[in-house]
Amino acid sequence: MGVILMLVFIGGIIFLLRSTMRSDKKEMPEMNVKEIERLLDEEVDFYKKIQTSERKENFKQRVIRFIQHVRFTDVGKAKHNLLDEVLIASSAIMPLFSYPDWEYKNIREILLYDDHFDGNYQTDEKNHIMGMVGDGAMNDTMILSLPALREGFERNDGSQTALHEFVHLIDKADGTVDGVPEYLIPKSLIEPWLRHIRAGILDINQQESSINPYAATNESEFFAVISEYFFEKPELLRRESY
Ligand SMILES: [Zn+2]
Repeated sequence: MGVILMLVFIGGIIFLLRSTMRSDKKEMPEMNVKEIERLLDEEVDFYKKIQTSERKENFKQRVIRFIQHVRFTDVGKAKHNLLDEVLIASSAIMPLFSYPDWEYKNIREILLYDDHFDGNYQTDEKNHIMGMVGDGAMNDTMILSLPALREGFERNDGSQTALHEFVHLIDKADGTVDGVPEYLIPKSLIEPWLRHIRAGILDINQQESSINPYAATNESEFFAVISEYFFEKPELLRRESY
């Protein structure tokens, strides 16, 4: 079973996430709508490549709706701007764009840090955290490093922190972040799905893969890292026969 097929299954998330977002809706001035459109046009490659104007409009509307319903909170010295909100919302919409009317219902707030932070989640080469999905009291919260968010869109190197964290959120919709979006996969396919992931992890551990070794951490990290490649470096996935 290929990864593309795996990602297609995510479409089932529509069933899980379509009910109305729970947080309050923010007003969006017309000026900001125009600015969001400009930022998408200039800064988001995925948006630039969308073929039809209807689909572009659909992407833009979902980005706006996400921004209206999620709180973005700066922590410490961080100072985010509208572009950062557009990049985060785009990262949320990209993995599920093929499904026209879904919404996340497991995210209310995004905490933005001005640097990479310490912990036990996704790390960069210096072992600093770039993003994480909250648990327990932090449920419905995502933490992102602003520099890592921006780097994800500036460099086309297969790394995209915000998208990685949204894939964890999709994974988490069934209650556990385990690499298996259980509501979405027919029971009979869970075993082949896991076999595919574990074979990929084995390839990395035996150094027979050029995928980021962080993917070998566990099944959920493999799912999230492979999704980053799917959007940033699909040709590398084809070469690796995923
Ligand atoms: Zn991760």
